[in-house]
Amino acid sequence: MRALFLSVFFILGLLLVSLSTWNFISSPSLEEERNQRAGAAAWPSVQGTLREVHFQQVAQVGKTPGYYYVEVGYGYRVDGQDYQGDRLALDRLDNPALEVLEASMGRFVSPEHVLRRVVTEHSGMTMLPKKVSLYLREQAVTVYYDPKNPRSALLDPLDHHPPNLLERIAPLLVLIPIGIVMMVAAYLNWGEREASVLAWASRRSKKQSNIAVAENIQTYPPEECLLDLATDQWGGGMVFPAKPVYRCRRCGAVTAFGLRAKEPPEFSYAIRKAFDRASGAGQAALSLESEYCDFVCAKCGQPVRVLYRTHEFAMSCYRHLPEQVLVYEPPPLTVRAG
Ligand SMILES: [Zn+2]
Repeated sequence: MRALFLSVFFILGLLLVSLSTWNFISSPSLEEERNQRAGAAAWPSVQGTLREVHFQQVAQVGKTPGYYYVEVGYGYRVDGQDYQGDRLALDRLDNPALEVLEASMGRFVSPEHVLRRVVTEHSGMTMLPKKVSLYLREQAVTVYYDPKNPRSALLDPLDHHPPNLLERIAPLLVLIPIGIVMMVAAYLNWGEREASVLAWASRRSKKQSNIAVAENIQTYPPEECLLDLATDQWGGGMVFPAKPVYRCRRCGAVTAFGLRAKEPPEFSYAIRKAFDRASGAGQAALSLESEYCDFVCAKCGQPVRVLYRTHEFAMSCYRHLPEQVLVYEPPPLTVRAG
């Protein structure tokens, strides 16, 4: 779902960039457009009749004031053919102030030719546009027409706003960065996804290395490591002697240990956790009767845990039965890197 969203986002960004660029490349050159617009100044003219002028308000959006633009309607005749024109100038004439627009239309419209002035207003609903219409009689105007296409005409053929490069590239300056930002954002989000996958993988491998640590516990039956075990007179198993002794399988040294000692300072957190995982201690897996003791080899320092059961065979009389000896083998350095 997320991948789909990011792909769509990326493609939209790419479309924005490519369409803007294509639009820029395929539109007529600035020079061409300038010449085209300037060409209208050389158009021939005829006498025409201006019939109507409308000041049309554009609906206000939010708090921004609306503005008005001018619509015109005129008739003219070229080579015996009548034409209707509705273009005033090369660019649309507009202004936020109605008075300013009406004044600027003064050069085409004389007050004595105005038959009617009609105001269409939606009272109380300011969001709806207002329109002021002037209906004229016998208002003569000069109409400039394209000699190659007399249907195309203007009342004002001068280029008041020759196109400039900045105006031309302004949309590109906005749209292309937006498209690029969209593409980069989508790309980076892909990267983030990759990163989270990597984090997950590293968590996973860390978990696996913990298992590897747990696997570095070697388990031995008591009789292989513990000396002086006695035969249990009650059950036939083995019991600890009065002073339990451990013989290291690695260095052969003999270490006396106590059954109550737990987690000596030599045990690092990792070692303790490895023993706990291997013996089930700390996870309530050991029954109430199961216990353990910890120590290190007196010579080589190898960590050892001895699991045993305590059995109260008579009132306040206990016997301790060794079950397993766990020996910690330091993991290879490469595994610890996790
Ligand atoms: Zn040892």
